Amino acid sequence: MAESRTIAFHTLGCKLNFSETSSLSRMLEQEGFEKKEFDDLADVYVINTCSVTDNADKECRQLVRRIQRKAPESLVVITGCYAQLKPREIADIPGVDLVLGAAEKFNIGRHIRELAKGDSARICSCDIEEVSGFHSSWSVNDRTRTFLKVQDGCDYTCSFCTIPMARGKSRSDTIANVVKNAEALAAGGVKEIVLTGVNLGDFGKGPEGIATPVSIHGREENFYALVKELDKVEGISRYRISSIEPNLLTNEIIDYVANSDKFMPHFHIPLQSGSNKTLGAMRRRYKRELYAERVNLIKKLMPHCAIGVDVIVGFPGETDEDFKDTFDFLHALDVSYLHVFTYSERDNTPALDIRPVVPVHTRNERNKTLRNLSWMKMQYFTEQHAGQTRTVLFEQHDKNGMMEGYTDNYIRVTTPYREEWVNSVVPWKI
Ligand code: SF4
Repeated sequence: MAESRTIAFHTLGCKLNFSETSSLSRMLEQEGFEKKEFDDLADVYVINTCSVTDNADKECRQLVRRIQRKAPESLVVITGCYAQLKPREIADIPGVDLVLGAAEKFNIGRHIRELAKGDSARICSCDIEEVSGFHSSWSVNDRTRTFLKVQDGCDYTCSFCTIPMARGKSRSDTIANVVKNAEALAAGGVKEIVLTGVNLGDFGKGPEGIATPVSIHGREENFYALVKELDKVEGISRYRISSIEPNLLTNEIIDYVANSDKFMPHFHIPLQSGSNKTLGAMRRRYKRELYAERVNLIKKLMPHCAIGVDVIVGFPGETDEDFKDTFDFLHALDVSYLHVFTYSERDNTPALDIRPVVPVHTRNERNKTLRNLSWMKMQYFTEQHAGQTRTVLFEQHDKNGMMEGYTDNYIRVTTPYREEWVNSVVPWKI
């Protein structure tokens, strides 16, 4: 390998993908590559794709075309969820040189070294059933806040979801290793860690997807045990749990967060639908009553807690009545904001067989209705805290003389830039 080869990355999709790109980039820099911005000229371009975006295919093609126009001799490598799901489709995109599936993503350096610009793309992929092993990753874009991947894959079978097909079975890092990573991040100046995974609450299955019976202090490894060990790490002021399934968010986790100084009063809990009929068709593992119970317990113990909700509109078979159920349920629930997704068809998912299909314009209308509700919820939540003093961790960016940060309970704050506040936790009157 020419030691001076340059490499540029582009990430599509979620925080997990961003944390993995960040780790791939650090790994390749250690192997002698020089990192460039994606808009710059580079010898190698890597696109880390997503299967959730509606037009993964279109986005990927556009990016490859952009590279071909500015650097026709450069190597183009495609990895990530879409590369695992549709390797042949991607290999057929003119200009692509290498497609790396889930098992080969972290062997990227070796594959690039063996690669030469040729006529047809090489595919290095295997069946998702064969994918095992865990690679810890974290993002380092802003020293203030880091997304730390502690779990990968999912053993659930939600009928709309391709993630288990793209990322494989549920598997996790060990608690000892997560703690080691958190200590290293603290030593590097990071103040806030966002714990990230595909199904975080399922943390504890070892690299082969098997539950790990013993761990540090002889206890079973599970998410609750992880939370308690991370709480002891010195130098990290704040943790957030990126997203956790309601059926895995136990009373003991809620109770622990309520009494912890480091775990922030902020949860993100996917609901997906407020209609039990639709939840059943989605093959979710809870009913709306359990969801309401979780929210009520959180708000009882932490009235100031922010709660974000994922919800999908336009799932096949969702009638006006079912949507009204969802709207009324969310309207009455003490949650702070919604992330609204419009259902879109995914190949090889059981939801494709459910009828009737909801017309696209109805899906869009429902999306708009819930986004309006989300806006009102967010306003209400913020107004409830007016006059209170909370803590804000300010980020380092100077955006036109302004700086931003989040309160412990996830209210965004903007104020004129002050260097002494960068990466500091500051008491703040809302
Ligand atoms: S819990 Fe369901 S929606 Fe979430 S990743 Fe697993 S299968 Fe997909």
